[in-house]
Amino acid sequence: MLKVGINGYGTIGKRVADAVAAQPDMTVCGVAKASPDFGADGAVQRDYPLYSAIGDRVETFRAAGYEVAGTSDDLIAESDVIVDAAPGGIGAENLTRYEAAGVPAIVQGKESDDLVDTSFNARANFEDAEGADAVRVVSCNTTGLSRLVAPLEENYGVEKVRATLVRRGGDPDQTGRGPINDILPDPIAVPSHHGPDVNTIFPDLSIDTMGLKVPATLMHMHSLNIELESEPTDQAVHELLAEESRIFVVDEGMAIDGTGKLREFARDRGRPRGDLWENCVWGESINVEGSELYMFQAIHQESDVIPENVDAIRAMAGIAGKEESMALTDEHLGIGLPDPRSVPAPSPTP
Ligand code: NAP
Repeated sequence: MLKVGINGYGTIGKRVADAVAAQPDMTVCGVAKASPDFGADGAVQRDYPLYSAIGDRVETFRAAGYEVAGTSDDLIAESDVIVDAAPGGIGAENLTRYEAAGVPAIVQGKESDDLVDTSFNARANFEDAEGADAVRVVSCNTTGLSRLVAPLEENYGVEKVRATLVRRGGDPDQTGRGPINDILPDPIAVPSHHGPDVNTIFPDLSIDTMGLKVPATLMHMHSLNIELESEPTDQAVHELLAEESRIFVVDEGMAIDGTGKLREFARDRGRPRGDLWENCVWGESINVEGSELYMFQAIHQESDVIPENVDAIRAMAGIAGKEESMALTDEHLGIGLPDPRSVPAPSPTP
């Protein structure tokens, strides 16, 4: 059993911890957070050993009634692999500590690609992370774009990607980012930094991106125009994407007309926290005009990077190859949203 420590137990860290705990070949050896607030209750409920991310706050946690196993230095020493899910920028500082302790570490998309052996998306470049000491799981938007580009590139060739990213203003718990009522070009400069980020996964891809921020918390929305090297039919692209385990093609008959209904659908399906680990592509929006492909996809920013973190752990530790790891992650998380109308009903109990 591989022991995984999670340094940073917020939106991403708590989801990574639960995903690791669900796998048959790894275990959570502890989670660290900075303050003894309600987030620590999740660790207590799940029996994850709790550590103080900041060295001198052990007593603050104890005074608030939380048992702590030590500081993040102790957690690092306990771990075979560390997943850093601290706020952006802090992961970069923490990397030097992981390196000094000789513990392989994963940081998240806000950190610079220059600091790690490779940026990572399981579908696109799993092999690059095999045996690596420092890996960066790319941001939620870059993850969503990479998962889409990989099968299109393999099957049709991609001449150019043009993507407009309509980004949520904040996560539901980020009260400090609101209340807001505006639409911001963000960044105002065009093209945005998102395209170069996708180039950390696909170095030769021609891609231009523009970003907007809107007063929403549920998901991001991508409006995509992809120039292909060939001219597939709408139906062929639809079928290609539907075969990808981490892409959910939303069927017209489901009457899901926005991100609110998507999240409601996930809650109805019993998904933990209403998470949608898959890219959600509207089937109706898939349209090929000559070699130009158009579509809309929604990305759940809080959860699409979670399976990628699990696969990055396996790649670094060398405990499974790409296909096996992705299949294990998918199975044990419960990835895949088959249309219940196409699944035979269970036979009635006699
Ligand atoms: P978050 O909700 O603010 O959680 C950050 C966690 O790190 C909190 O548990 C915080 O403790 C803890 N922390 C604070 N200082 C720390 C330190 N010095 N060392 C270790 N942990 C520390 O942030 P998040 O949204 O999960 O984001 C984490 C990373 O994932 C960021 O790099 C972010 O860019 C990236 N990411 C975020 C999203 C998203 O949509 N949220 C999507 C993809 C990638 P307390 O809880 O006690 O304050």
